[in-house]
Amino acid sequence: MAELINGRAYAKEINRDTQQRVERLKQHGIQPKMAVLLVGDDPASKIYTRTKQKKAAQLGIDCLLKAYPASVTQEEIMAEIQQLNEDPHVNAIMVQEPLPDHLENMALVRQIAPEKDVDGFHPVNVGKLYNNFPGHYPVSCTPRGIVMALDHYNVPLAGANVVIIGRSILVGRPLQSLLINRDATVTICGRKTNNIKDRLKTADIVVVAAGKPGLVNGDNLKEGAVVIDVGINRLPSGKLVGDVDFDSAQQVASLITPVPGGIGPLTVAVMEAQTVDLTEWQNE
Ligand code: NAD
Repeated sequence: MAELINGRAYAKEINRDTQQRVERLKQHGIQPKMAVLLVGDDPASKIYTRTKQKKAAQLGIDCLLKAYPASVTQEEIMAEIQQLNEDPHVNAIMVQEPLPDHLENMALVRQIAPEKDVDGFHPVNVGKLYNNFPGHYPVSCTPRGIVMALDHYNVPLAGANVVIIGRSILVGRPLQSLLINRDATVTICGRKTNNIKDRLKTADIVVVAAGKPGLVNGDNLKEGAVVIDVGINRLPSGKLVGDVDFDSAQQVASLITPVPGGIGPLTVAVMEAQTVDLTEWQNE
């Protein structure tokens, strides 16, 4: 029976560390501050933004919410981001997705100063990660949290065979780079990949980030595999599940993340920690 990767407990540890780092910065007269741009009335985005604000406040981070009606123009948001880039008191900037169709998300991301890009989506930061540049730069928070969790549970990465299902710019692609940079051998699968089941059977570590409940089950796994389930799916019954059939996978895996309580809480904790990273790097 697999041991659980307890994302909630580990997130609390990360938060304690973040809070102490905020205290140290405050002793030097520095107040970490993030700005979140929210456009329109998407209920899930509003809840997610409120959670970020609440968590930031608990940790001593200022969170400036810039809310706009869905009718806001690309130019208005671009100008707002430029002002935030130039504001020395703002350390981190993020644009909450989804955006209305008339706004071009990547143009907004490119407008954010790379050193304030707390989501790690700016092409400069993506390129640095891809090329394993030395030095500090932000990285997409969910994959960073996954690698931190693997380290926290002492899972060896160098030489490990990793299969990732899902190749989005949010999860799969940055995770692939992070793992390659740690000397893992990584296979990344999408909808058109052949023989995913055969590939899974060879994996020491399986990461599933597809948004498809039940995509992977215990029969697909190698005995003792480490299973990271990133998926978050709401079933018609209202139950929240991942992409992995937890009960059968738990019988075969050595370590597994639950949903909820696995990678989700880590993503938020890493985003707050990365705000403090940016603040420290800007004040080095
Ligand atoms: P996305 O839709 O952008 O990407 C999904 C990827 O999965 C695509 O590359 C697609 O090709 C692949 N895919 C889909 N079905 C597949 C299949 N049957 N076989 C192989 N590949 C398949 O999604 P995303 O933003 O990367 O999110 C993926 C899931 O992870 C969602 O459920 C999302 O809610 C969740 N998520 C969770 C967190 C967290 O903090 N826990 C963070 C980000 C995303």
